[in-house]
Amino acid sequence: MNIHEYQAKQVLKGFGAPVAEGVAILSADEAEKAAKSLPGPLYVVKSQIHAGGRGKGKFKELGADAKGGVRLAKSIEDVVANVGEMLGNTLVTKQTGPGGKQVNRLYIEDGADIDRELYLSILVDRTVGQVAFVVSTEGGMDIEAVAEETPDKIITVAIDPEAGVTAADIAKLNAALELSGEAATDGETLFPILYKAFVEKDMSLLEVNPLIVMTNGRLRVLDAKVSFDTNALYRHPDMVELRDETEEDEKEIEASKHDLAYVALDGNIGCMVNGAGLAMATMDIIKLYGAEPANFLDVGGGASKEKVTAAFKIITADPAVKGILVNIFGGIMRCDVIAEGVVAAVKEVGLKVPLVVRLEGTNVELGKKIINESGLNVIAADDLDDAARKIVEAVKEG
Ligand code: ADP
Ligand code: MG
Repeated sequence: MNIHEYQAKQVLKGFGAPVAEGVAILSADEAEKAAKSLPGPLYVVKSQIHAGGRGKGKFKELGADAKGGVRLAKSIEDVVANVGEMLGNTLVTKQTGPGGKQVNRLYIEDGADIDRELYLSILVDRTVGQVAFVVSTEGGMDIEAVAEETPDKIITVAIDPEAGVTAADIAKLNAALELSGEAATDGETLFPILYKAFVEKDMSLLEVNPLIVMTNGRLRVLDAKVSFDTNALYRHPDMVELRDETEEDEKEIEASKHDLAYVALDGNIGCMVNGAGLAMATMDIIKLYGAEPANFLDVGGGASKEKVTAAFKIITADPAVKGILVNIFGGIMRCDVIAEGVVAAVKEVGLKVPLVVRLEGTNVELGKKIINESGLNVIAADDLDDAARKIVEAVKEG
């Protein structure tokens, strides 16, 4: 689960991190009052969407010459004018995809006098099995380019879970970010605070880009992106309250209600697969034959007929889906349960696109029998390769 920047900053502020004053608004009438409550004279109006790259993003409705999704304003009137332009429009950034995201909330924040923009994130580093800081002096809006072109400018400091953030870790981080004087003293308190927030709130990612050194020499968290470990959310009802479902894919929300591992993608071949590895392989092979998957879906082992039905309904309800590939290797999952779920779902919602079914493993004969006797117009396949080729061909012909 992700939350908005302003919410992430509230959470971090609660742990003692230095953030600017700001007010989130949902309508243009709130803009003036919000700006007046801030110290000024510099303000920033920031689009609140669950995607990064807002500063360099473009509003669909405003044309290429208009300013982006994060705007400086030099007066209250300027804030109000920018709010009027931004609110309700669709922001397209590198992370939203070409469709963009509608901006329903803005964050009016106190403007900072920036000396340097740094990068800092905390994540679970699977190569060492530890939580790690990833930092760079080259923060700001082009960190992806830094990672690609000058990866040596990105430094990782793994944290020992027993010891927490030690003095040696702090020294490494301060050196990596080239902090000295008051900024280094701020770092001494800030790094353990961010680590504590990450661990206590079961975050999977905490990204501060940029972390800034202000002209007065002090550190400030200027942008914040937080993702939570979904499996630990039950421990944090206060964080669940911050969820903004309008930012999430409807199909993913529906899938999460059925405890399905589902991720919506941009292609047109819907996939129903058991096992994350097989799901990845299925997506790869669809691409190999020149098409794109519409989703990742792992129905898991031991799924019930109801769960399979729900999964199949989510796939068929997606207007982008022009063909469906069911690829099941029955181990714990039984092929007959999958077949029953598919047949039940089709009875309820119909089937308007080609369907290729490849079944193998436990109760495969029974599964095939259920499908064959159902009267469904199914294209049978022998193996994964055959199945992928057949669905790609069927979609191309359709
Ligand atoms: P994104 O990463 O989505 O583009 P940021 O919050 O990082 O959005 O903002 C983009 C840039 O805007 C920052 O790198 C910084 O230069 C500037 N900026 C953001 N917030 C402020 C602020 N409060 N004061 C001054 N400049 C800001
Ligand atoms: Mg940023």
